[in-house]
Amino acid sequence: MTDAANRRPPTAGGQEAGDTGAGPEMPGTGPVPEPLIFTYSRPGRGGAGLPEPDVPVRPVEELVPAELLRREPPVLPEVAEVDLVRHYTRLSQMNYAVDTAFYPLGSCTMKYNPKVNEYVAGLPGFSRLHPYVPDELAQGALRLMYDLERALCEIGGMARATLQPAAGAHGELTGILLIRAYHESRGEGHRYKVIVPDSAHGTNPATAAMAGYKVVEVASDERGGVDLAELERVLDDEVAALMLTNPNTLGLFDENIHRIAEMVHQAGGLLYYDGANANAILGISRPGDMGFDVVHFNLHKTFSTPHGGGGPGSGPVGVTEKLVPFLPAPLVERDPETGRYYLDENRPQAIGRMRSFYGNFAVLVRAYAYIRALGPEGLRRVSEDAVLNANYVMRQLAEYFRLPYDRVCKHEFVLSASNLRERTGVRALDVAKRLLDFGIHAPTIYFPLIVEEALMIEPTETESKETLDRFVAVMKRIAEEAERQPELLKEAPHNTPVRRLDEAAAARRPVLRWRPGGAS
Ligand SMILES: *Cc1c(COP(=O)(O)O)cnc(C)c1O
Repeated sequence: MTDAANRRPPTAGGQEAGDTGAGPEMPGTGPVPEPLIFTYSRPGRGGAGLPEPDVPVRPVEELVPAELLRREPPVLPEVAEVDLVRHYTRLSQMNYAVDTAFYPLGSCTMKYNPKVNEYVAGLPGFSRLHPYVPDELAQGALRLMYDLERALCEIGGMARATLQPAAGAHGELTGILLIRAYHESRGEGHRYKVIVPDSAHGTNPATAAMAGYKVVEVASDERGGVDLAELERVLDDEVAALMLTNPNTLGLFDENIHRIAEMVHQAGGLLYYDGANANAILGISRPGDMGFDVVHFNLHKTFSTPHGGGGPGSGPVGVTEKLVPFLPAPLVERDPETGRYYLDENRPQAIGRMRSFYGNFAVLVRAYAYIRALGPEGLRRVSEDAVLNANYVMRQLAEYFRLPYDRVCKHEFVLSASNLRERTGVRALDVAKRLLDFGIHAPTIYFPLIVEEALMIEPTETESKETLDRFVAVMKRIAEEAERQPELLKEAPHNTPVRRLDEAAAARRPVLRWRPGGAS
C-alpha cells in the first residue's frame, strides 16, 4: 500500500470489492513541527488586558535578593490570545482519549464516562466544601460517602469499606495491611507469605513485597485458572493471604473459586480480591459470595472517573465482618436517633490513616452518581454488555490471531501474535503500532506474562457494534498486511504526530520540555 492510499479520504458507506471495511485512517498529522507559538512571537505582542495597578508597586529589585534575580529575561513567546488558544488546542488534538476514539486497552477499562457525572462532581456544594468543615455543615457529602460505601459493599458482598485509598495499588496496600492486622490480632503475626498467581497484575506482588511479605508464585493450569495441585503444594501455616483477580487478567473466570477459598481458609490464610476491573461481575457475582475476605475496586476504571492521564483515582477497600475493626479511621456513621451523619474517629484497632482527609472526594461523587443513575439493573446490564462485546470481538479475531485459551471470556480476552511472528516476524508490538495508523489506541501488549506476544483487549460496554466491527476489520487487515508487507508493520506508525519511539530511551531519558533551538 502506498502512502497516498494510506491517506485516502473517508468514503461514505459502500465497500469496494476486497475492501476490509477497515475504513480510512486518522488524518495524517505528519511530523511534529516547530511550535507555532514561538514562530508567531513578536516583542511586545500579548494577550492580556490587565488594567494599570492603582496601588503602589514596589520594583522587583526591592522584593527579591539580588543573587536570586534572573540576569536575562526568560525566553517566553509573546503572542496574542488567539495564537495561545490555537497552540494548546492543537496540542490537545495530538493526544488520544476515550472522547476521541476507541481505546481497547486491556486491564484498564477505558470506557466512556457519562459527562453528567463531571457536572455533578463540579456542583459547588461538593467542589467548594472545605475538608475541615464541621460535620453539621457537610451532611450531604457525608451521606454521599455513607451511601456509596453501602452500595460498594452490596456490589462486593462485603460488610464495610474504607473510601480512603487513592488508587488501586493503594487499595491493595490497605487491604494487605488489614490482613496483617487481622493475623496479628489472633497471635498469628508469624505468617509471612502472600501467594499470587503467575497471571497476576504486577501491582499484586509489588504490594505484598512492599508490605514486607514474601511473594510466592502459583502457576496457572492449562485452562488459565489457578492450578489446584500447585496451590496445595504452596499452602501452609506461614501463608497470610492469596491475592486473586476473578475473572483474572486473561479475562477468564476461575470456576474453582469456592474450592480455592476453602483451601486457603483451611490453611488459615485470607483471600484478597483485586477488583480493579469489576466490569464483568456487577450485579452478577460478588467477591464476598466467592469466598473473598477483602476486595478493592477501582472507581476510576469501573465506576466512571476518567483516567489514563495519571489520576486522581480512588481504590475503596471492602472487608468482611471479621476485618471491620481494622479499617482506617474515620468511617462515616449515621446516628440512628437523629439521622445525622458523622465522622467516627474512634477506631482503636484501625491500621491507621491511609490518606489525608477522606480520599479523592470528587471521584467518590462520580461513582455515586454513576451507581445511582444505573441502579441494580443498569449495573448488571453494564457487565452483560461488556462480556458480550468482548466475546463478539474475540470470536472474530480468533480467525486471524492465536487464541491461547479458547473459552468464553469475561470483560476482556488475550490473543497472541505468535502465529504472525512465526510466519512473518511481525510481533505484537508491530500490530499495536500499526493500529495507531487507523486511529485506534493499542491494546495492552506483552501482558499477562504467561502468554507470548500477548495482545490484551478490553472493548468495554460503551462501544457500539459499528465501532467493534471496524476494529475487527482493522485487525484483520493488519493480519493480512503482516503476510504481504511485514515491513509496513515493522515501521508503523506512519501517520501519527510522532513515529515509533525508542521506548527504552523514552522511559530513561524522557524529553519533557520543548526548548527553543531543539536542545532537550
Ligand atoms: C489497574 C489495575 C491495578 C492497579 O490500579 P491503579 O489504580 O493503577 O493503582 C491493579 N490490578 C489490576 C488487575 C488492574 O487492572
